[in-house]
Amino acid sequence: MKQKSLLLLLAAALVFSLIGCGADDANTKTQTSETEHTADVVVIGAGGAGLAAAVSAHQNGASVIVIEKMPFVGGNTIICGAAYNAVDPSRQGPQGIEDSVDKHFQQTYEGGDKLGKPEMIRTLVENAYPAIEWLESMDMEFKPEVFTVLGGLWPRAHKPVKPLGTGFIDTYMNYISKNDNIEIMVDTKGLALTTDGNRITGVRAEGPAGPVNLNAGKGVVIATGGFSANVELREKYNAMWPSLTNLKTTNHTGATGDGLTIAEEVGANLIGLEQIQLLPMGDPDTGSLLGNIEQGVENRIFANKAGDRFVDEGARRDVMTLALFDQEDSYMYIILDKHSYPTGDTKNNFNESIDQLVANGKAFKADTLEELAAQINVNPKNLVKAVAEFNSAVQTDGPDRFGRTLFDEKIDTPPFYAGPRTPTVHHTMGGIEITPRAEVVDANGKTIPGLYAAGEVTGGIHGANRLGGNALPDITVFGRIAGKSAATAK
Ligand code: ADP
Repeated sequence: MKQKSLLLLLAAALVFSLIGCGADDANTKTQTSETEHTADVVVIGAGGAGLAAAVSAHQNGASVIVIEKMPFVGGNTIICGAAYNAVDPSRQGPQGIEDSVDKHFQQTYEGGDKLGKPEMIRTLVENAYPAIEWLESMDMEFKPEVFTVLGGLWPRAHKPVKPLGTGFIDTYMNYISKNDNIEIMVDTKGLALTTDGNRITGVRAEGPAGPVNLNAGKGVVIATGGFSANVELREKYNAMWPSLTNLKTTNHTGATGDGLTIAEEVGANLIGLEQIQLLPMGDPDTGSLLGNIEQGVENRIFANKAGDRFVDEGARRDVMTLALFDQEDSYMYIILDKHSYPTGDTKNNFNESIDQLVANGKAFKADTLEELAAQINVNPKNLVKAVAEFNSAVQTDGPDRFGRTLFDEKIDTPPFYAGPRTPTVHHTMGGIEITPRAEVVDANGKTIPGLYAAGEVTGGIHGANRLGGNALPDITVFGRIAGKSAATAK
């Protein structure tokens, strides 16, 4: 990561402390520890949305400062499974997959119970592929094949060549390290916006050496991510689930919803905060997605503690998670076979090989389904029956009795694997209301001059349930738009 601004900050703090030594009245002390920075565009949050906004603003002629409260950049983006939905005939065509932007629109809209705003979804689906081309123009690489990610409903998820979300963050950081007038200040937490009348003029922040004032000549972009790691907030807004107090999360510890308060204080409208996404895919010990052995939707089933299937494993995320809550201890195993892991060193979406996962006790491996059932302590007859039933649905291409329609290979080739999973809090769909130009609006629908937002901190796109694979295009598309809108603001 680039350290030039951190060094600048430390140097400034040193200078201030030197010239300030000996001054003992409160006023002087405040002055000595305060630093002032100015750029055309100030971005709060250095995850995927914030860094996309920063690069895009810079490409549109702006000087840019990004502040990041953690000691490192990346947010949730860098630790995500990195599935990126886009309609892409050049990749889907050779795989024989039919798709269209309208289908992506329809699945996103209906998959969110028609609560997402159509004009926002349209912007998302139409710009998803151009944003891939934009990333590729900065040398980011995606694999040639697409797949169906959990709850993605269709095979249009692109996977970067680099593991997890590192490809996105590396791409932006590479751009930032090579260009002037675009800086990142880590360990610097945005606290509030500064205003001149109703116009947003900057950010008041707290850095390692004390208060930091950032003046934004053209605009501020809020890109602070969601609030899945803030137990109090998610409990305050939760209306869809049983209590979320004791659930774990897939998120990094910085996902605390700071941007919501920051925006609300200047009159931004917040929408859909009750729309909280859980996944049925958490590590039972940590809530993390790490250790998830699924390799896409088509070739695996879920079995509960009795060894029975209980849901369409290709369904929406909320549908699968609700079904999992009804199972004993809300606990299940992903069951799959050699088709998903042709060799022991084949890796999952989180860069972990199946051999490693078995060795660490995160997955189980056996030559027969009966042996596998014995290892995970489920009824072997039930597990064998569940797999047989799945295999006959593969043969007829479904739909099976759960309504499942996504199939590819049978589960019939040893070794067989099982991996335990439980519900975990993953994504907050609600947040700051924005226009398709990523301008923040107030309760009357009027834009707040100088204020933009992008990424998980915004609301109004995914409705009640976000499709798997739609978060990365969301943060990339709207981050890119927010940066451009801010840079080109009058
Ligand atoms: P998105 O997917 O929307 O980009 P991420 O979680 O990837 O969201 O990134 C959001 C980033 O914003 C994280 O790196 C997080 O630490 C940072 N962040 C959150 N709150 C603040 C704040 N008050 N000031 C500065 N950075 C913040």
